[in-house]
Amino acid sequence: MGALTLPRGHLFYDGRWQQPAGAGVLSVVNPATEEVLGMVGAGDESDAGAAIAAARAAFDDGPWPRLSGGERARLIRRFRDVLASRVDTISALVIAEVGTTVAATRSHQVGLPIEHLEYWGEMAARPDMEPVAPRGAGNWVIRREPVGVIAAITAYNFPFLLNVMKVGPALAAGNTVVLKPSPYTPYSALVLAEAAENAELPPGVLNVVPGDVDVGTTLTTDPRVDLVSFTGSDTVGAAIMAQAASTLKRVVLELGGKSPLIVRHDADLALAAKVGLQNFTFHAGQGCALCTRHLVHRSIHDEYVARIADLGTRLVIGDPADPATHMGPLIRPVAVERTDGYVSEAVAQGAQVALGGRRPPDHDVGYFYEPTLLIDVKNSWRVAQEEIFGPVAVVVAFDDDDEAVRLANDSVYGLDGHVVSADAGAAFELACRLRTGGVNINGGAGYTNPAVPFGGYKRSGIGRENGQAGLDEYVQLKTIKYHAG
Ligand code: NAD
Repeated sequence: MGALTLPRGHLFYDGRWQQPAGAGVLSVVNPATEEVLGMVGAGDESDAGAAIAAARAAFDDGPWPRLSGGERARLIRRFRDVLASRVDTISALVIAEVGTTVAATRSHQVGLPIEHLEYWGEMAARPDMEPVAPRGAGNWVIRREPVGVIAAITAYNFPFLLNVMKVGPALAAGNTVVLKPSPYTPYSALVLAEAAENAELPPGVLNVVPGDVDVGTTLTTDPRVDLVSFTGSDTVGAAIMAQAASTLKRVVLELGGKSPLIVRHDADLALAAKVGLQNFTFHAGQGCALCTRHLVHRSIHDEYVARIADLGTRLVIGDPADPATHMGPLIRPVAVERTDGYVSEAVAQGAQVALGGRRPPDHDVGYFYEPTLLIDVKNSWRVAQEEIFGPVAVVVAFDDDDEAVRLANDSVYGLDGHVVSADAGAAFELACRLRTGGVNINGGAGYTNPAVPFGGYKRSGIGRENGQAGLDEYVQLKTIKYHAG
């Protein structure tokens, strides 16, 4: 892992590092050590407005939307190459900024986004026109055009990945972007600004404005922005949809989840326990698509719980920069309090704690919470219905597949799901019956392929990221009509 090198600037727009208009600062804190990594000047409404102006000019008058797909692909690859040459530095920064373990940082936080950019380089080069079969005296051509200025607003938990998942397809389609990262994680966005500068993307194509809600509000209400692509909570997603309504912007919303893991009576219990544990301890449960509602067939319930409790007590919690650590911290004290609040409420309602259920007593420093498994929980309780975003899972027993499906779908969310079963046909049938944007079977492959669409049903979102469907969110279709006679 590389040494910690902080990005050198605060705001980046119009191809240059800029000073924030106001005096606000974002204090970037390492959640494992509570040390302040650095201070980033916070953008405000006027900075957001200036960045939008730069993105608008780059779209309306600059070269980017008018380049051929092949030329855009070449520049996206150059951008990707700059980032790929800095993987160690970016990884060290992400570990310090958000607290993922070394392994998860290498795989999901940094390695995967580099693969995404390779993919978006390939997608940018695809033809942007397709003919329609002639009909009568008519001939038609459909042209794919960029939407315009994209406001990308992201969450803290996978900051570099989430930023790339928006910037990649938006740029591939020929749009220009203003990116506002979470106030907790500005550095993972500023490294993209550095790469844009080094790769010599044209000015105004990628602009980064760290800041808080005021920047987000400006980006979602300004008439010069054409589309808002948001990743975050469903509450903020709903606010953003309302904010974007008066100017009729397109919205792509990637929101929260409370995804079900169904363990059938015939499941390989060693596999089920491994998958189950992973689904609430990976990144300390701070993953939108993690399956934190474990619906387990009554006949294997006790053994499943015993296995997870056994595996869970062996997890090493601590400094995520140490490769021996399995689980790092939560982002801030408020997240620990929130997690503990859900656990206390469930226990007061009658839940039993099968694992964890408290702050680790041997960690005075850092925002840690023990991996926690709650049993004797009702699916209707808040702990089973609301997204906790901490290392907590609940177990609810079921008697047959129909009941499992009913419980799984009894949620306002619909992001992901998981089925563990020795019967591949039964697992596939269950997967088809879940009202979720994705389902893993027996460990699945997750979202490790940038060509695979990702998104949610119900309150988990609107639209898709990744793949052709993800690119289409950033595209307008124009029909050009000829009279053949
Ligand atoms: P959040 O919703 O609190 O904040 C997300 C972003 O929105 C931040 O940049 C924040 O500053 C900004 N924001 C807040 N209010 C705003 C407003 N009124 N207008 C414009 N911008 C505003 O989310 P978080 O706590 O950073 O992240 C955790 C949430 O993100 C969880 O719910 C998680 O499930 C979700 N998430 C979803 C996905 C997905 O792809 N579905 C991926 C990662 C995280």
